[in-house]
Amino acid sequence: MNDRINIMDVPIDVVTMDEAVLKLLEFLKSEQSHAVFTPNPEIIMEAQNNKDLMQALKRASLVVPDGIGVVLASKILEGPRLPERVAGYDLVQNLFKSAAQTDYTFYFLGGQEGVAQKAAERMAEQYKGLKIVGSQHGYFKDEKEIIKKIQDVKPDVLLVGLGAPKQEIFIDKYKDILPCKLCIGVGGSFDVMAGKVKRAPVIFQKLGLEWFYRLISQPSRIKRMIRLPIFMWNIVRISAYNKKK
Ligand code: UDP
Repeated sequence: MNDRINIMDVPIDVVTMDEAVLKLLEFLKSEQSHAVFTPNPEIIMEAQNNKDLMQALKRASLVVPDGIGVVLASKILEGPRLPERVAGYDLVQNLFKSAAQTDYTFYFLGGQEGVAQKAAERMAEQYKGLKIVGSQHGYFKDEKEIIKKIQDVKPDVLLVGLGAPKQEIFIDKYKDILPCKLCIGVGGSFDVMAGKVKRAPVIFQKLGLEWFYRLISQPSRIKRMIRLPIFMWNIVRISAYNKKK
């Protein structure tokens, strides 16, 4: 068992990317259904005021840091440090690589009309042998109808890209009645897989500046990103308080 730390009450697993991929493969062999989330500072802040999101994160089988801010926070706070950022997009790409030559099946749920389908086509092309058994856009009215569709095709892995906190709450609510072994919240990953949105250049990713790239390429995210400095400020305050105790 790996260590688990708490950052503002949100559990985060102390794992590297390789260890996280191995965990996913282990979950695929088990009998139960597992939820996997990849919070960034924004989501951790949102969870402070959203009980359903906090509960979903606490009940998940694996929670990895999709933000350099979360890794930094573990270095400021006492206790084990997170070894590296485990971005949701990369985690899923690594899972595709490992699962392509197996019988595991995938379902893509989320994004605007046509995006999940395009993402599925492109991923099946890139990872020869990858089995995607269905896709569905994320702007539906009747959740029950969607659940029924997924139940009919029985995928092993359900990728849910409805954005936070919708995807975490959706997975937490339905994972036990779904036939899937693994449900992963993937945010805007289908947009990238479909080629609609570009990922930050590797240099930005390596320098821990992917958030900055997203901000300059999508300035409308400023309102959401304002939570990043507030998150860091909270971490510094918690750390100072713990040191005084
Ligand atoms: N989305 C969706 N249904 C909704 C709201 C959002 O499918 O009701 C999709 C949206 O099209 C986008 C993703 O959820 O593909 C959210 O992307 P964003 O970049 O905001 O997520 P992040 O990666 O930052 O969590």
